Amino acid sequence: MDGKAQMQQQIGPILSRVREQRPLLHHITNFVTMNDVANASLHIGATPVMAHAVEEVAEMVSKAQALVLNMGTLTPDRLEAMLMAGRAANAHRVPIVLDPVGVGATDMRQAANQRILSELDIAVVRGNAAEIGVLAGAGGTMQGVDSIAGAAAPITVIRQLARAHSMVVVMTGERDLISDGERVAEVANGHIWLTKLSGTGCMATAVVAAMVAVEPDHVVAAVAGLAAYGVAAELAAAEARGPASFKVAFFDQLYHLAENQVTDGARLTIH
Ligand code: ATP
Ligand code: MG
Ligand code: MG
Repeated sequence: MDGKAQMQQQIGPILSRVREQRPLLHHITNFVTMNDVANASLHIGATPVMAHAVEEVAEMVSKAQALVLNMGTLTPDRLEAMLMAGRAANAHRVPIVLDPVGVGATDMRQAANQRILSELDIAVVRGNAAEIGVLAGAGGTMQGVDSIAGAAAPITVIRQLARAHSMVVVMTGERDLISDGERVAEVANGHIWLTKLSGTGCMATAVVAAMVAVEPDHVVAAVAGLAAYGVAAELAAAEARGPASFKVAFFDQLYHLAENQVTDGARLTIH
């Protein structure tokens, strides 16, 4: 079997493992999309918990199978909680998944993301092209938290960023690119309506975290998460009339998604 066929066979069973194990995902996240993130985590088969207080984050993360740090609506208190939870996660070998929402939009977000990357051992970072470009210092341009222009030579950018921090880098967009610094995989699933709803990036990060919680090869886990997410979006779009009905259908499809739909529907390329 070649690399692509092998990965195609690996990803479906990871979804089934999430559903069997119901891993606890500890989210420290933003207050715009928190409820959607909780529901996407549930529908893919995981168990979400949102815990933000410095008094409890270390204890909570010690019971979790993954920690999600989402940098939207960041405050100094929340950053302290993230660093505290992150140190405990590293000590307990709980993988950390980072969503660097809007990094580069302000100096505070830039400094906070750099602190997270330098002080914590991050397993996976998932951002859009501009966010990953900013983290890599590759010159993506930002307006608010939306990606307006990605960085050049994305495969080179994600490889270098992955090597610099020994982590898996996921750059989403029309095509998602995933790399650990050596291997580079691409997932071409999804639908344009994902860009017309708030929270689809945050939910993609949560679904990736659910897979990372049960699969130690974080490249394969991220591919599984993005393929599952993109296939569910395609199925939802077929029965929706616009972004609002798409959202409802998307949650239903995430909930009903079967292992074979992921295996058969994933459009993968190995670079
Ligand atoms: P948000 O704006 O919600 O924070 P984001 O910018 O962080 O999102 P995106 O890059 O928009 O993240 O990716 C979110 C999801 O949408 C991913 O699953 C990605 O594959 C999908 N996606 C993004 N752009 C497109 C597109 N043009 N066509 C199909 N799918 C897309
Ligand atoms: Mg976006
Ligand atoms: Mg985002």
